[in-house]
Amino acid sequence: MQKRWGSLSDKGTVTLNTDLIGAPKECIEYVIMHELCHLKYNDHSPDFYKYLDSVIPGWERIKHKL
Ligand SMILES: [Zn+2]
Repeated sequence: MQKRWGSLSDKGTVTLNTDLIGAPKECIEYVIMHELCHLKYNDHSPDFYKYLDSVIPGWERIKHKL
């Protein structure tokens, strides 16, 4: 199972894993934006990834660093 870096509550609160503190800034931004994209798409559907692509182009490269 993949490590969970962040989560979004049903009230819209983003919770981040404290291990992110040592991660590069762009990784932290990626996790935050990933969770915020879930406000629009509450799943990992193709539409979600399309939206994520439009918000953070190249996010896959950033995710790879985590
Ligand atoms: Zn997600």
